Amino acid sequence: MKEVKQFQAESKQLLNLMINSIYTNKEIFLRELISNASDAIDKYRYLSLTNVDKYPALEHFIRITLDKNNRTISISDNGIGMSKEELIQNLGTIAKSGSKDFLEKIKKAKDNKDLEIIGQFGVGFYSAFMVAESIEVISRSAKFKNAYKFTSDGQENYTIEDATKEENGTEIIVKLKKNTKDENYDMFLDSYNIESLVKKYSDYIRYPIKMLITHQEQDKDENGNPIKDKYHEVSEDKTLNSMIPIWKKNKSEIKDEEINEFYKNKFNDYESPLIHQIISVEGLVDYKALIFVPSHIPYDLYSENYEKGLTLYAKGIFIKDKCKELVPDYLKFVKGLVDSDDFNLNISREMLQQSPIMRKIADNIEKKIIDKLKETKTNDFETYKKFYELYGEHIKFGIYSSYGAKKDLLEDLLIFKTLNHNEEYISLKQYKEEMKDGQKFIYYASGETIEQILMLPQMEKYKNEKIDVLLLDKRVDEFAIMMLHDFDKTEFKSISSDESEELSKEEKDKLDALTAENKRLLDNLTNGLKGIVDEVNLSSKLINSPVCISTKQGLSLGMEKTLNEQPGLDEDHQIKSSKILELNPNHPLFEAFKKLNNDSEQEKYASLLYDEALLLEGFDIKDKKSFVSKLNELFLKAFNK
Ligand code: ADP
Repeated sequence: MKEVKQFQAESKQLLNLMINSIYTNKEIFLRELISNASDAIDKYRYLSLTNVDKYPALEHFIRITLDKNNRTISISDNGIGMSKEELIQNLGTIAKSGSKDFLEKIKKAKDNKDLEIIGQFGVGFYSAFMVAESIEVISRSAKFKNAYKFTSDGQENYTIEDATKEENGTEIIVKLKKNTKDENYDMFLDSYNIESLVKKYSDYIRYPIKMLITHQEQDKDENGNPIKDKYHEVSEDKTLNSMIPIWKKNKSEIKDEEINEFYKNKFNDYESPLIHQIISVEGLVDYKALIFVPSHIPYDLYSENYEKGLTLYAKGIFIKDKCKELVPDYLKFVKGLVDSDDFNLNISREMLQQSPIMRKIADNIEKKIIDKLKETKTNDFETYKKFYELYGEHIKFGIYSSYGAKKDLLEDLLIFKTLNHNEEYISLKQYKEEMKDGQKFIYYASGETIEQILMLPQMEKYKNEKIDVLLLDKRVDEFAIMMLHDFDKTEFKSISSDESEELSKEEKDKLDALTAENKRLLDNLTNGLKGIVDEVNLSSKLINSPVCISTKQGLSLGMEKTLNEQPGLDEDHQIKSSKILELNPNHPLFEAFKKLNNDSEQEKYASLLYDEALLLEGFDIKDKKSFVSKLNELFLKAFNK
């Protein structure tokens, strides 16, 4: 019985885009269908490993058949096949959330350039509709035995009907569109062309991709001598691909171009990776791995659906995509695969994931990736800078989330813009080498942007004395620095932290005397800011600015803000840093405050000083209404004098 079904709405949109694609690289459909066939064989082989009675070992292959008369190219496999439900689910809908996000992205793409980029995404089976007038899929599931046929022209509907098929697997018959003025579809009927496409995109596929190749051979006479101008056709079955998985090749044999193509195909990216790494380890554990750092942040990296991990093979057999045990969270952006002969194939996927070998490989891979990043930092700083701008926060997250346990592993990867090098990045090592005589700390300052940090009131002294300061403009920075505690035995110190311990005796005595002299004003201001700051002090760190806020015990204003923005934290549990309002005794505003009429006025206007400091440091003020009305009162007093 033939059933007519409608494509799901999203599928229709994607199909529509495929069919009307202005994208010129239509040939990738072949790579997509071959890679689906290879995945289907992988799945069968995995079942066969665990239940050989039900799924006997087969000789696997993928076959391409060209039929010039009917204008069809078909790709068949003897893999896992699809049941009727699976045909409907897999080909009638786009189930994967990734594809849906992707569709959203396409819809937002405004110009042709975006569309072109999108056209290079592996959009799987549907890409065949770029070249097809109609497609038939005949499939027999290895589990359920019955065969079904799916037919569609990729418009509104598809049909499903019973079919006959001797063996498990899938055959996809693509009826090619007719040539147009601009498009040549006949080229997909040419065996030499197909052979070169297979070589180009699918050479590493681990199952033979076979095709019957027909060529002309000269006729021979009874003595075996060739007869002039007489030819006959000879057909022979040819395996088109070398079948060597790229990671099993010798490192020196792998060309960059080849590995980039492999990455784009395998991980559905339109750009070559920023960094790739070929790992081959022999010793306590034996494994091979390919690791890639994408050149752009994977579009779903920060979505809830993102799954980190590497593809896992055991003895060359596919086990699992996105095996999350193989990479730590902070390296979740890397893509790649691992193949090890050490895995025992007789145990379940779950057991495999928990095996000690898995742990060993994961630890080793983490170190190798970090080594590669360090090597890139040393040998190709331009690339490293790109890497750091994309993924630097993840490295800092690695330091922070391990509570400093990964300090030794990761600290050399950190680079910073600094007060003295604010266009470029420098390493902590360079910072230390450039430290001034007698400088005890590695100073840092934090804020939302580099420009804003450079304008912090506290920065004035460092600018004057040419002491370098790390500029931290990412939220995770300060948390990571706190976990590091020191670099090569020199402690980090925020320029916004309490400075008293750093003053010389002479400076301290001077400040103490001034403080005693102005005790009454300072007490009044402290009273006026009860519950907001712990102390109001005079400071020697300010030069042009009247005020700034310092914090005690390592928790800065920025960290306080970040922590209090955590979702689900209610008012009562807000985290509070211990703050000191610091006044510049040499600023005219200080003199002006001294002149305010009485204690209560000094108390009243204290909040203006605090709010001003907040603004200078790039924060928002809480009670804007009170700020404005107090400011206006002072204006009026001054103007009406
Ligand atoms: P993707 O391969 O990225 O999942 P596709 O649109 O290419 O997306 O395919 C959708 C699904 O259809 C696949 O995930 C797979 O389950 C199924 N499928 C496609 N081709 C085959 C095939 N040759 N054999 C078995 N299943 C297939």
